[in-house]
Amino acid sequence: MDNNKLHDKFRKQLTIVHALTVLTVLLFEIIGYTILIFTGHEQLGWNSQLLWFRLLIPSGINTLTHAATRLFINASITSAKAKNAAVIAALLFTAFVVAVFHRKYLVTSCTFVFPIILSALFNNKKLLTGCFVSSLIILASVAAFLRLDGMSNATFMLNLLVLFGFSLISFLCGITTINFSRLNASIIKSQEQKNNQLREDLLRDQMTGLYGHQTFLTHLDVLIQSTDSSTSFCLAMLDLDDFKKVNDTYGHDCGDEVLLFLAKALQRHCEITDIPYRYGGEEFAIIFRDKSIREVQTVMESMLIYFRAHCFSFTDKPVTFSAGISQYVPGMMGKALFEAADHTLYAAKKAGKNCILIDSACIEKTGLVK
Ligand code: GH3
Ligand code: MG
Ligand code: MG
Repeated sequence: MDNNKLHDKFRKQLTIVHALTVLTVLLFEIIGYTILIFTGHEQLGWNSQLLWFRLLIPSGINTLTHAATRLFINASITSAKAKNAAVIAALLFTAFVVAVFHRKYLVTSCTFVFPIILSALFNNKKLLTGCFVSSLIILASVAAFLRLDGMSNATFMLNLLVLFGFSLISFLCGITTINFSRLNASIIKSQEQKNNQLREDLLRDQMTGLYGHQTFLTHLDVLIQSTDSSTSFCLAMLDLDDFKKVNDTYGHDCGDEVLLFLAKALQRHCEITDIPYRYGGEEFAIIFRDKSIREVQTVMESMLIYFRAHCFSFTDKPVTFSAGISQYVPGMMGKALFEAADHTLYAAKKAGKNCILIDSACIEKTGLVK
């Protein structure tokens, strides 16, 4: 699940939380109102201040806020960030409504703590700061209304101070949550990069950097499975000529130099659709996904010309290779394709080395002249 989908899901859950908050507030208001009526503190009737200012007006505003938020977050024109902000703003506004209309019970003002902490989960410091500032506005509004009500005594002011402390602490909790989740995400990302690198390293031959034997077999398998009857591809197997002699005469380091140069030569002549592999020892394979057998022959010829023209530091004599090319025909097994190329390579060796041959079966089928 990507970050956008996660936020989408989280936003939907927060909308449900908002709906439940609105319902809970309404339920508590009804219970409170009923208690006041039954205890004789309030008269039942439409002219009751309590009925309007503690129940009907706040609940009406809360319901409208919820409906507007739903409309906003379901609209396709708004960005994901704006939708995140909208759902948090709805929770804050409901906290504001509860705090102002129920200011006599100052403890109700602390509901802003929840949107502040929840906003941190969107991993957006601007949104969190916005929530913190909004909570201060809520407290300032409550203080202003209390003053108007003539209830601005020391106890109320001290309670407001405590609520300010709540606001500050929830803001700090939010910042810590965001910092933690960012650090966690960066650790996971770097671990993922390391794992990908490790996986890639396992696929490759350490010395030449080309894909290795196992990767060759896997790629060949996958390619055969995904090739339909109308498409084809070619395989070339190549082997250094008299390489043992190079090692025996000049040493293993010189042999390694030859192998490295050959790997570079293969990469240089391969296009994006041609993949070279170190099959093992001084044998290499190339899968040509998008070339005819004639085109493959041309590429291999120029590869050989380029390679044998290279002057190694340890000898004036050219080092050469031989190669055999086969072509996949629908229904063929990977093993048969490999054997066809390998037998052709063997034929090239027998023919005197330093040459490229095409599988005789392909010559017969395609009518190519040897
Ligand atoms: P041919 O022309 O018939 O292929 O003869 P060749 O000497 O090339 O073939 P042979 O199979 O007799 O020898 C292959 C040599 O390749 C033997 C082995 O020591 C050498 N070799 C295999 N891997 C490496 C390597 O990683 N580095 C070096 N320097 N030599 C290697
Ligand atoms: Mg050899
Ligand atoms: Mg060999």
